[in-house]
Amino acid sequence: MTKNVRVRFAPSPTGPLHIGGVRTALFNYLFAKKHQGSFILRIEDTDQTRYVEGAENYIIDALKWCKMPFDEGPGIGGDYGPYRQSERKQLYKQYADELITSGNAYYAFDTAEELDAHRKDHEANGKTFIYNWHNRLKLNNSLSLSAEDVQAKLEAGEDYVIRFKMHDPKEGSHSTISTKDIIRGHVTFKKEVLDDKVIFKSDGMPTYHLANIVDDHLMKITHVIRGEEWLPSLPMHIALYQALNWDIPEFAHLPLILKPTGKGKLSKRDGDKLGFPVFPLEWTDPKSNEISRGYKEDGYFADAVINFLAFLGWNPGTEQELFNLEELIEAFELERVNKSGARFDPDKIKWFNHHYMQEQSNDDLAQQFQKQHAYLTEIDVNYIAMVVGLVKERATFVSDFWDLSHYFFTAPTEYDAKASKKAFKEGTKAILEQVSTIIESNENFTVEELQNDIKGWITSNNIGFGQVMMPLRLALVGALQGPDVFEIMFMIGKSETLKRINNATATL
Ligand code: GLU
Repeated sequence: MTKNVRVRFAPSPTGPLHIGGVRTALFNYLFAKKHQGSFILRIEDTDQTRYVEGAENYIIDALKWCKMPFDEGPGIGGDYGPYRQSERKQLYKQYADELITSGNAYYAFDTAEELDAHRKDHEANGKTFIYNWHNRLKLNNSLSLSAEDVQAKLEAGEDYVIRFKMHDPKEGSHSTISTKDIIRGHVTFKKEVLDDKVIFKSDGMPTYHLANIVDDHLMKITHVIRGEEWLPSLPMHIALYQALNWDIPEFAHLPLILKPTGKGKLSKRDGDKLGFPVFPLEWTDPKSNEISRGYKEDGYFADAVINFLAFLGWNPGTEQELFNLEELIEAFELERVNKSGARFDPDKIKWFNHHYMQEQSNDDLAQQFQKQHAYLTEIDVNYIAMVVGLVKERATFVSDFWDLSHYFFTAPTEYDAKASKKAFKEGTKAILEQVSTIIESNENFTVEELQNDIKGWITSNNIGFGQVMMPLRLALVGALQGPDVFEIMFMIGKSETLKRINNATATL
C-alpha cells in the first residue's frame, strides 16, 4: 500500500457501544497499524434526537480498555478536526448547496403528514412508498414547483429538506452503480429502485449520509471499514462522491455478528437470555437507570476480548488461534475477512479468558483477587500470589479464585457430606492421629520432606494410599478437591495443618 492509510471509526453516540462496534473499531485499528496509518475517531452526532448523555465518554473508555488508542479525535484533536460532527455543523451546508446548483439535489417541502398519508395510501394498495424519480415531479419540491414558489417558501422560512437526486430516468432503467468492496468483491446496485434520500434539513443539520461523506473526504479517509448494515447506503455514498467530483475511498463492509445459534443478528436480548454481556463495559442508562453488563466488569481480560473479536469474521488462514495485539496487527488482512455472518460463541470467549489468565503473572492476579475480597486485604500479597499459582489453571475468572482457594485462607467449617462418607471409615481416626504425629515431628516442613515422610509411612505399613490421602484432604479442604495435599500443608503451615486434622477427627 503506497498511500498514507487513514481510517476512521465513526460511531453515533446513541447509547453504549455494542460489541459489534468494538469489532469494527478493532478491524479499523488493526488495518491502520498494519499499514503505519492513522486511526481516527469521529463522533457522528448529527441526529440530536438520538443523542444519549455519556455515550461518547463510554465509546472513548471502551477503546481505551481495548487498547486501541486513536491518533486523532475528540479530546486529543488532530489536523482535520473538529472530530464531532455537531461542531462541524457550518461545514456541510455549502456542499448541499453545491449539489443543488449542479442539479444533483433539490428542496422538498412535503410535510411529515403529507408523507405519512402517501405511505398509508401505498400500504393500503400493498405497495411501498418510495420518494424518487418515479414520483418526485408530483410531490411538493423544487422540481415540481416554480422557481418563484420555491423562493417564496424559503424566504417565508418554511421547513424543508434537501433530497439527493439518486436516479435520472434519462439514464434508462438499467443504469447501475457498481464498485469494488474489499471483502465482497464487485457489488452492483440498480439506481432505479433507490430512493432520493434526505441529505440536509432546515434545522441546519446534515443527515448521516452527507456528513459522513463530507467528513470522509475532508479528513482524507482512504478506507471505509464498517458494518454490513451500511452496505445499502453504499450506492448513495458513491453517487454523492461522483456528484461532488471527489475521489472515492475504498470500502470494506464487515460481516454481521450472528446469535450463538447462528440464526439472525446478535442482539442485547440474546445476551440477557443466555447470560453474557454484549457491551465491552458496564453501562447505566441515564434515563431508566437500567444497568447492562460489560465484559470488563464481568471479569474478562481485554486481551481475551480482543483476540476473540478478531476472529469474528477474520481468520489467519492457519490453525493458530491465540494472537496478542501485536501479532494481530502483523497478521491482519482485510482480504481474509469473510463476507458471511460470524457466529458469536460466548463459550469461546471464556476459553480465551482462561488462556490469558495463565499468561498473567501471579502477582498481578493476586492484586486483582485481593481487591475483590475484603477478607484478603490483611493477607500478604506474596502468599496470595503463591495460592493463585496453585489454582489458576482451573480458573477462568479472577472471581473463580475464592471458590478454588478459600481453604488456603480459612479452615473448613463444614465437610462435604458425600466426601465424608467416602473418606471417613472405621480406622480413619487412628490413621489421622498417626499422620499428625509424623507431621509434628517433621522439622523443615517442606513439600518434599512431608511427602517423603507420609508416603514412606504409608508404604511401609501397607496402607491403601486413598485411605490416608482422602481423609487428609477432606480435613484440610473440607471437600475432595484442590491441588496437591502436600502443597496445601506446606502453604497453610504446620500448626494450621495439625489444627485442621484435629478438627476433622473431632467432628467426623
Ligand atoms: N455513524 C455510523 C454508525 O453509527 C457510521 C457508519 C459508517 O461508518 O459509515 O455506525
